[in-house]
Amino acid sequence: MSVSDAKAAIRLSDIVRDHVVLRRAGRELRGLCPFHEEKTPSFHVNDEKGLYYCFGCNTSGDVIKFLRRVEGLTFPEAVARLGGELPPRERKPPGPRPPDPEKQASIDLARRIWHEARPIAGTLGERYLRGRGILGSIPLSLRFAWTPLWHNLKTGRTGPRMPGIICACQNPDDRVTGIQRIFLDRTGAKAAIPRPKRNIGQIRAGALRLGPAAQSIILCEGPEDGLTLAMRYPDVPVWVALGTGGLPYVVLPDIVREVILGGDNNAPGRIAVRRARETYSAQNRRTKPHFPPEVFEDFNDELRDVRMAA
Ligand SMILES: [Zn+2]
Repeated sequence: MSVSDAKAAIRLSDIVRDHVVLRRAGRELRGLCPFHEEKTPSFHVNDEKGLYYCFGCNTSGDVIKFLRRVEGLTFPEAVARLGGELPPRERKPPGPRPPDPEKQASIDLARRIWHEARPIAGTLGERYLRGRGILGSIPLSLRFAWTPLWHNLKTGRTGPRMPGIICACQNPDDRVTGIQRIFLDRTGAKAAIPRPKRNIGQIRAGALRLGPAAQSIILCEGPEDGLTLAMRYPDVPVWVALGTGGLPYVVLPDIVREVILGGDNNAPGRIAVRRARETYSAQNRRTKPHFPPEVFEDFNDELRDVRMAA
């Protein structure tokens, strides 16, 4: 039996039920997410589409991905579990190279900070975002913590702690591999330090997800722009590359067929959008550039009516 026949022969919720207590919620089923800790259910299963997704940790996928993650199976093992069989050339997918020890240490640090960070509601982080005109609920992929300004992973020495927003950078397997911190002062304004945005761990290839993967997504550079676009286009999930340079390198799930590229109105922004269009078109995805009107440098400036000097 082929992989697609094997998938078609089972109902996703029958497999998920081995691990999650599901209750009906309209046309879908809902339960506590097995991939992150939560008290209110945000894990949805859609049997018609054969897909699950979690609004808490923004993981999504099909039955094979579910089995791989929840039971730690390899792709061929998950297929075999469903009674399917791989065509011979698919049996040995090349494994990704493990990161070097130094990179791994910084990924571990990013994960530790992420897990210890608290929800953003009621914190200086929320105050900062409200000050940037962001309304409504803030996605759970943004948290808040006081963290050292810098870490020396060789000596274990750390810099002074400062408050900041912690943005989760998730890799294609939905795991948090890196964080971007937006450092703040005690009034909730962006900290007056060199480089108030600092990354730890693996950022390239991953993204800050402000919504689940979907056929059409908006991809942009920074968290503030992403949150602005998410307000403006509530039906289209927004992902954030966490840096201009990263815009062309986000590894997207197969489900994403169209990428709307939200760019900054400056030279690096235009170059990044052009490169990103090349990359994602080469992956047979539709791409669309989207820029704010010329008097604004970015979408958040447009939201706040902050114009560029003429
Ligand atoms: Zn989850």
